[in-house]
Amino acid sequence: MSANINPLANPKGANKVCELCEKPAYIQCTKCFVTFYCGKEHQDDDWVAIHQKVCQLLIPVRTPVPYYTLEAEREQHYTQILDRQKLLMEISQRVAEKKLFEKRHKESLPAALLSLHSAMDIYGTSGVQLVPAYLLLAEANIGLANLSPAEQYLSWADWTVVRTPDCGRTVRHKLHRCMGRLFIVKGDLEGALFHLANDIYYASEQYGQDSIVTCGGYYLMADVFFRQRKMDIVNSLYTEVANTWHSHLSRLLEKHIENTITPEESFDEAQQAEADQMLRSLLDVPDGGPKQQPAQSAALAHSLGILWLLDGDPEKALEFGRRALGYCQMVQDCWLTDPICRLLHLAEEGLDAAQKGSPDSPPCPSAPPEHQRSALLS
Ligand SMILES: [Zn+2]
Ligand SMILES: [Zn+2]
Repeated sequence: MSANINPLANPKGANKVCELCEKPAYIQCTKCFVTFYCGKEHQDDDWVAIHQKVCQLLIPVRTPVPYYTLEAEREQHYTQILDRQKLLMEISQRVAEKKLFEKRHKESLPAALLSLHSAMDIYGTSGVQLVPAYLLLAEANIGLANLSPAEQYLSWADWTVVRTPDCGRTVRHKLHRCMGRLFIVKGDLEGALFHLANDIYYASEQYGQDSIVTCGGYYLMADVFFRQRKMDIVNSLYTEVANTWHSHLSRLLEKHIENTITPEESFDEAQQAEADQMLRSLLDVPDGGPKQQPAQSAALAHSLGILWLLDGDPEKALEFGRRALGYCQMVQDCWLTDPICRLLHLAEEGLDAAQKGSPDSPPCPSAPPEHQRSALLS
């Protein structure tokens, strides 16, 4: 589905440019009237990727500032626009990240581009705040095997970080991680290991050695050693990643039961997609990879079950929980049996609650019959 389009009379010299490729625009979105495209193809690409989520948000940001006689009114207007731009930057960044984890690289490009444009509107064209958007653009291009634009974005990110001595460790770890990905795709495995070692250093300084953020670096390093056929190292890195995720998710489940998960601890869509992708790839290692021990497979399937339970999908939680129990039964006295049974119980409860709440389920016995309810309202 796409928004309606409107042909533009675009005479030579008109300054309307396409949202995606910056070539002269000939059509516009008829829902916001502030976004322009070179043609239907880019309009459709943008709509699917990000525009449908932000179409209306763009209207005040891109509409010329009305004339205010009072300075206070002007100030208030600029504050509102700034808040809107920050919201746009956050939404587009989150959408781009999620699509990257889902390996939908083409769809992540328009979202990443909007996050860069929003960051430039807020911070100017050279701030360190632009780096996350450069990295998203680089990563999307790496995924599409467009290595030359990827290198260009990474060199801008690198240059910005070099010029910012007080740049934080989070940005540095992300930069090195992205460099690591580029070097893997280019086949420069030594270069990749250098950047991933830096990534892990900055991430562990910031988040701790056993954090799920840091273990993303170990996961990529395992990919490098996989290509070098050093399977014993791959195996130990996979174990490290699997254990880190298992402890993290088990802790989160406890907090979920106690109802004490803070907003910072709960996963957003992008983190959910990353965790799901990573854990599944460890559980179903491709041919030629290290053979998983049943105990480790049980822990991975248990982690995935918890992940989906926390995401409010008891059906998937049940599916992975049952799979985990299957692996557990291959191990003598598996210590995970009790935690897995607990997960299955919680998932079944969640499924029951969902079925009771669904419209085709029988009415709740405590609710008054339909005619009594309408009588109560009248
Ligand atoms: Zn275009
Ligand atoms: Zn629009």
